[in-house]
Amino acid sequence: MADHGKRTKARKKAAPAAAAAPAAPAAPAHARFLKKACDRLGYDEQAYRVLLGASREIRVELPLRRDDGSLSLFNGYRVQHHNSRGPYKGGLRFHPSIDMDEIRGLACLMSLKTALVNVPFGGAKGGIDCDPAALSGRELEALTRRFVSKIHRDIGRNIDIPAPDVGSNAQIMAWIHDEYAKIYGYTPAVVTGKPVDMGGCVGREAATGRGAAIVIREHAKHRAEPLDGTTAVIQGFGNVGAHLAQALHELAVRVIAVSDSEGAVVNRDGLPVEALLAHKAATGSVVGCPEAAPADSAAILRLKCDFLIPAALGNAIDEGNARRIKARTVAEAANAAITAPADEILRQRDIAVLPDILANAGGVIVSYFEWAQNLQQFPWSADRVADELSAKLEAAAADVFALATGQDCSFRDAAYMIAIRRLKDAFWTAGI
Ligand code: NAD
Repeated sequence: MADHGKRTKARKKAAPAAAAAPAAPAAPAHARFLKKACDRLGYDEQAYRVLLGASREIRVELPLRRDDGSLSLFNGYRVQHHNSRGPYKGGLRFHPSIDMDEIRGLACLMSLKTALVNVPFGGAKGGIDCDPAALSGRELEALTRRFVSKIHRDIGRNIDIPAPDVGSNAQIMAWIHDEYAKIYGYTPAVVTGKPVDMGGCVGREAATGRGAAIVIREHAKHRAEPLDGTTAVIQGFGNVGAHLAQALHELAVRVIAVSDSEGAVVNRDGLPVEALLAHKAATGSVVGCPEAAPADSAAILRLKCDFLIPAALGNAIDEGNARRIKARTVAEAANAAITAPADEILRQRDIAVLPDILANAGGVIVSYFEWAQNLQQFPWSADRVADELSAKLEAAAADVFALATGQDCSFRDAAYMIAIRRLKDAFWTAGI
């Protein structure tokens, strides 16, 4: 025993000074928001973990023969988070930076979003780690079809229903629909965001941007303040940002600055939104738009305005810029645009945040309408889509504003509490 003790001591002496254990990576923002809401609701650690974790994670290899004869290899992802409230539902992101971690987080946000706006879906997300702009049309189509050939058993109108997200569009949804039909026959409800003439819903493309404008309008009503003449800055001028700019313009909000991945433009009197849309359609960017001055993309986030609206990619507002934001309200049109520390900084600075699961829920609401129309083979009018979108978002926003007022908490805390209570009730009631 004595000998053993000596050797142990010797080993201890010889060992290099113990390095400090590496800090555990910070939990992603949605996990921190979820935990906070679970704590507020009195849910225990196990409930939190069940609500956070995904039911299934799929990664597939996607080799692609390029036009020049070379071979490229891509990863396709689909994370199915929860389906106790209905089939999995969520977009497909085509972007070179995506990985399983990011898709996992976005899938969880989808479950929360569908629960918050009370549509009969669960949550999912997926995508391919490609740059669609660097692929020819033939290559993009072949890659999309290959993806469907690998995941077709895991999607379906009552299983999991993909939709467009960053880098994907109605054309890609049309290819998915067509490839799936080769195996299972005509099944338009397998995917939403399709072109209108092949079973898509009128107004789906504009729905996320228009939905964000509706949430902003409801927030102004809640504050009993007029929207007319207020100002907005929008980061990102793709599907969401461009339709949002148009919708805000129609509500008499002055859009004073916008950016895209090429740069930014500003006009403090209000950008000419119609000309901006035409310029973007003609050139592919907002840069160089007439009646607008060039601006620095990072600097426009610091402009004094009523509404700052990140509508591009995640983590746009972080600890580095949150203290310098001069907006009264931040509407998180992009998913996960605000990091958890930045969210706390904004709260301390009394800047209201309209959280992503509310602000950008218009897209999934109209996807639900598209799915319902496809199941019934009964198309709706544009007016019906617009009215029902408005009604759904007004109801969800009213719930969030009322709970936030009642509990004296942020809109994000309230939105998460409403969503996870519904998610947990369905999950637990169904039986684990
Ligand atoms: P998109 O690909 O159509 O547009 C993205 C835009 O962001 C483009 O204009 C791009 O140039 C710009 N951009 C990229 N990096 C930028 C940067 N660093 N600075 C400024 N602009 C930058 O994508 P989208 O469909 O408009 O989606 C935008 C966000 O909205 C994403 O977070 C997405 O998950 C979310 N969202 C989209 C939908 C939908 O229906 N499309 C639904 C819900 C949420």
